[in-house]
Amino acid sequence: MNIASSLAQVRECINSASQQRDRSHMVQDSVTLVAVSKAQSASAIREAFAAGQKDFGENYVQEALNKQAELSELAINWHFIGPIQSNKTTAIAQHFDWVHGVDRIKIAQRLNDARGMHSEPLNICIQINISAEASKSGIAPEQLNSLVEAIMHMPHLCLRGLMTIPDPSLAQSQLSLQFTQMRNLLHHLNDHYGSQLKQPLDTLSMGMSSDYALAIQQGATMVRVGSAIFGQRHYNSTSAPT
Ligand SMILES: *Cc1c(COP(=O)(O)O)cnc(C)c1O
Repeated sequence: MNIASSLAQVRECINSASQQRDRSHMVQDSVTLVAVSKAQSASAIREAFAAGQKDFGENYVQEALNKQAELSELAINWHFIGPIQSNKTTAIAQHFDWVHGVDRIKIAQRLNDARGMHSEPLNICIQINISAEASKSGIAPEQLNSLVEAIMHMPHLCLRGLMTIPDPSLAQSQLSLQFTQMRNLLHHLNDHYGSQLKQPLDTLSMGMSSDYALAIQQGATMVRVGSAIFGQRHYNSTSAPT
């Protein structure tokens, strides 16, 4: 599989989905592609970077740090998109530009404290469990205001918006509805908190290889796409990260 040509295809698909957006309550028009490089080699990332890709998403801290060390000369925006363990918050706060899966005050506080010495605040998305799956991380929409109010006051975090991973078994119509609910939640936050926020919330991180076109039509501003760019992931039993 040729990474440059898969990337071009994904970008093409992003562009055509952007033409068909429902523009009500949209926070911004552009769509950022985050190439999800978990289980991919540093050389695969290098290849995508050479083809113009700047944002990369990783799920596992140690795996990401290894690749970042190999690629330190590249001006990559690193996104942490995996579940956040509290003993990994220092490494995450110091080695990433964005963290997408924040769903607890305690984790936010630890990221804030560890980010302290850096000049730029860490960009944060709050994860919503929009399909209300028992096994998923993320908070229920009813818990959103209290988490936003806590993060708003943390000086080293910049709340940018919301992230979700809907139940992949949902029918298209249901998925579409849940993406729309996410857009409405973000709109509500901007309306409700307005100038209390460091900046207006401009990010809806939703959509993966199987559903990013649909997510964009419903207002996604960041899509996290892995296998459609890099092909199947190959973790084997000895290399599986923790
Ligand atoms: C792995 C992963 C993705 C990418 O999944 P693909 O189906 O390969 O596009 C996106 N978001 C999160 C949170 C992931 O863990």
